[in-house]
Amino acid sequence: MNKLVFDSECLNGILEDKPVARHDINGIYQKAIENPNELFSAAQSLRKKFKGNSVTFSKKAFFNIVNLCKDTCSYCTYKSEPGETKLSMMSIKQISELLTLAKKYKCVEALFVTGEQPEQRYQEAREWLKNNGFKTTAEYLIHASEMALEAGLFPHTNAGNLHYEEMKELKKTNVSMGIMLENVSERLTQKGMPHHLAASKRPKTRLEVLENSGKLEIPMTTGILVGIGETIDEIIDSLFAIKTLNDKHGNIQEVILQNFQPKTDTKMRDEPSADEKYFKIIVALSRIIMPQMNIQIPPNLSPGSYQSFLEIGINDWGGISPLTPDFVNPEFAWPKIEQVDINSKKAGFDLKCRFPTYPEFFTSISKELRDNIAVIENEEGYVKEEYWR
Ligand code: SF4
Repeated sequence: MNKLVFDSECLNGILEDKPVARHDINGIYQKAIENPNELFSAAQSLRKKFKGNSVTFSKKAFFNIVNLCKDTCSYCTYKSEPGETKLSMMSIKQISELLTLAKKYKCVEALFVTGEQPEQRYQEAREWLKNNGFKTTAEYLIHASEMALEAGLFPHTNAGNLHYEEMKELKKTNVSMGIMLENVSERLTQKGMPHHLAASKRPKTRLEVLENSGKLEIPMTTGILVGIGETIDEIIDSLFAIKTLNDKHGNIQEVILQNFQPKTDTKMRDEPSADEKYFKIIVALSRIIMPQMNIQIPPNLSPGSYQSFLEIGINDWGGISPLTPDFVNPEFAWPKIEQVDINSKKAGFDLKCRFPTYPEFFTSISKELRDNIAVIENEEGYVKEEYWR
């Protein structure tokens, strides 16, 4: 391949492994608004250099453990109130049944999701926990994770702002964990803004959870939400906040870029979805800010164009489930894995099924978890084809 040479000094430097400075990114963004081609080429060149021709995904089952939540975000349709038809409070029996089904569908990941500390706000949640023999949601998740491992799946817990000790305990069974940073903007927590009624989304609080994950060496998934009324500066600051954490601890295993899609039953129902050109520029910026990072977009949120993101720097599709909905975006069905495979191939990339943690993070997990992975792992550290196809 011929060496790329750009008009932008900064992009040329990035291709020669010079780290990009925060103040350079605004200039790159402004130029990209006029014409994004140079930025997209630079991002793709870095992606090929560090990630080759593979694109990964995790074959998962989504366990909607409890969707009561003490907070309220203006865009969220996941959260339920007691009595609503979408209310989910999974019993041990239901978890066990879904684990069996997940295994039958050759899923590899058990994704455990909850609202934010529901027992702090809802009597119903306290009773549900008590009926199942637990005091806190975190205790329940620890038990559910043990069940998943026993069933031959790998847990990945995303339960909002867990405490240090809770995360430490979950690390024993979870090969990775997740929490979206979403944005580091305090402005988005002010009155009238999407995070005003969500104390758990205060940037300081989220950054502390991520900091704790670093101290605990937990392979961590995080990311940003694009299109919720943020400014480009706030997006860039958020990406640099993730980069800073990762430079310090090296435990951020992937960055999800999630494009906002309005939900009819939410306060932000009339807001436009994230503009695709704006979103793509942010995807490409993420690659040049963190050249070696695993960068993910959820394919179901860009159903008509997800494969085009392979040309601008992403290398992962995240979790795709063959049997459970995306409860966070229930109106967007996951594409069929066979179709993602075909579309990835057409774009020139090989689809690989990864574990809920990436091979480069296997050294961060316990020997027991590592041994479990080894049973179904191929020579590249991905799941052997016969265990997921
Ligand atoms: S996005 Fe998360 S924290 Fe916000 S209301 Fe929904 S479940 Fe709760």
